[in-house]
Amino acid sequence: MMQRGLFRRGALLAQQAAVESSLPPMISPLQPRLDRSMSSLTIPPPACMLRPLEVPFRYLFGPGPSNVPPRILAAGARPIIGHLHPEMYEIMNDIKKGIQYAFQTQNNMTIAMSGSGHAAMECAIFNTVEPGESVLVAVNGIWGERVAEIAERMGASVHTMVKAPGGVFTNEEIEKALAKHKPVLFFLTHGESSAGLAHPVDGIGDLCRKHNTLFLVDTVASLGAAPIFMDQQNIDILYTGSQKALNAPPGTAPISFNERACQKMFTRKTKPVSYLLDMSHLSNYWGNDGKPARLYHHTGPVSGFFALRESLAILAETGLEESWKHHKEVAEYLWTGLEDLGLKLFIREKDLRLPSVTTIAIPQGYNWREILQYIMKHHQMEMTGGLGPSINMVIRVGLMGYNCQKRNADLALAALADALRNCKKSKA
Ligand code: PMP
Repeated sequence: MMQRGLFRRGALLAQQAAVESSLPPMISPLQPRLDRSMSSLTIPPPACMLRPLEVPFRYLFGPGPSNVPPRILAAGARPIIGHLHPEMYEIMNDIKKGIQYAFQTQNNMTIAMSGSGHAAMECAIFNTVEPGESVLVAVNGIWGERVAEIAERMGASVHTMVKAPGGVFTNEEIEKALAKHKPVLFFLTHGESSAGLAHPVDGIGDLCRKHNTLFLVDTVASLGAAPIFMDQQNIDILYTGSQKALNAPPGTAPISFNERACQKMFTRKTKPVSYLLDMSHLSNYWGNDGKPARLYHHTGPVSGFFALRESLAILAETGLEESWKHHKEVAEYLWTGLEDLGLKLFIREKDLRLPSVTTIAIPQGYNWREILQYIMKHHQMEMTGGLGPSINMVIRVGLMGYNCQKRNADLALAALADALRNCKKSKA
């Protein structure tokens, strides 16, 4: 075997040498062209581009992206195939099934966006809302604010229900607002990552049906970490991101629309404002429209889809219920450790805490930026501050998917304890 291998390598080298010797010398034909083009350049190659890529190791214990396990990295590093090759369609079909499992839905109109969570947010709104229509948004952190702005930009008539970061909307409050504003769409964030809240969802889908409203739910920060049942909870549109508990690299975003949502988006009078995010094209690209041919619409992120498929495969192997249980256990372990350090958790009620992203109230007298910088410098660890309305209120620690391990909770706790010892208490 060994000898045959050596022989083959030798033959290959000889073949390569023969091919090279039959080629014209490299310098003479290329040189004049190179000189001419060089001489016409006013911008030289940047020095940084002549240095190799450097990426440090970091513990990504913030709200995302999370560290990506080697198995998913390896999937993303597979050779590229054409985005319209039959093998790619197979992979996309697998992704669709993986998302249906993760969302607990049978919806045919289930795809992954070529883009981050924001692409899914815009896709949901651009396709189901027409200019001038009423949209109701629950704002209790940054994600409601964002969705309200997206809807406003496309010309919707936006109404918000606003609470302080981490606030919970009762079903009575939601129903009152639905009756008042008669929205075509109601938005709620399941895992409010800026506040560390897992918002209850039960019963809201039924209220939306009663008021002829589509129910749109953001699970970017919660999918795989906290239970969600798209079909059973009557959620009409659900989306997530690849880079949180799913542990794929950022850049793809699963989304699903049920029949009610399809009915609304495919009978609209105006075209959606975005060509890239138009579901009539995307449904064809994903083979969901029943047409025999898939036409070119855009070039999907092939490597990103390989990685997403692998992350969904890991979730299927682990099992959703096991994944939810595991996130809860590790989160509870972290919460106890944080309280033992004398820290206060921002979301008081345990059942409302998001298992993937924990928010700590900024300890009195400390400068949160100094704490985070200290942890990055001395522990190569990312934790983050608040976002949008929760800025200056919280420090966020995320342990999701691959990172969701008690030993990582210990590392995070040790880093925080070290920072609390070594960062000056501010005099302010
Ligand atoms: N929604 C929530 C709840 C999020 O946590 C995030 C990302 N932090 C987003 C939406 C936006 O996702 P992306 O950054 O991937 O666009």
